[in-house]
Amino acid sequence: MQVTRRQFLKICAGGLGGSSLTVMGFSPSEVLAQARQFKLARTTETRSTCPYCSVSCGVIMYTLGDGAKNAKPAIIHIEGDPDNPVNRGTLCPKGAGLLDMINSPNRLHYPEYRAPGSNAWKRMSWDDALNRIARLMKDDRDANFETINAAGQTVNRWRSTGLLASSAASNEGGYATVKTLRSYGIVSVDTQARI
Ligand code: SF4
Repeated sequence: MQVTRRQFLKICAGGLGGSSLTVMGFSPSEVLAQARQFKLARTTETRSTCPYCSVSCGVIMYTLGDGAKNAKPAIIHIEGDPDNPVNRGTLCPKGAGLLDMINSPNRLHYPEYRAPGSNAWKRMSWDDALNRIARLMKDDRDANFETINAAGQTVNRWRSTGLLASSAASNEGGYATVKTLRSYGIVSVDTQARI
């Protein structure tokens, strides 16, 4: 069908007007005339932190599911937390797309281990992963802990292991992390916030 420029503008204006009227409740359709339900009704709100960068913006996650045993909860919406002093409800485009990361088929849900020399990752339980980390830390500390330095001064340090802390930790979490690590004698501590 041939459409002149004037006809084209008329069609567009008609379409826009129609859709606006629909949104305003003037749709003749019985279904669209019903009050639309707020999509976050009956969801559970959970406050969390965006994991992407060191700004650590606060987010609110909305989950569907009534907590019944056979109901699988699903996060259906994420938005900035207006009560969080870091971002006051705002999110950058990356944080605004968090739902895609949560639902990504590539998301890692459990610890994996790649043995030395192997090119394959194997799934392991959290208990096994934590036990392994604890075992390796203990062995390394026993082998490398220094009580005195070359000058004979007491140093009580463990320099062969370091820790990169999360930038998303609260002040209290950061304080507890550093206190714990220093009590082991660990010297090398840094945080993702500086990366
Ligand atoms: S929302 Fe953006 S700025 Fe905020 S923590 Fe996430 S990635 Fe960083």
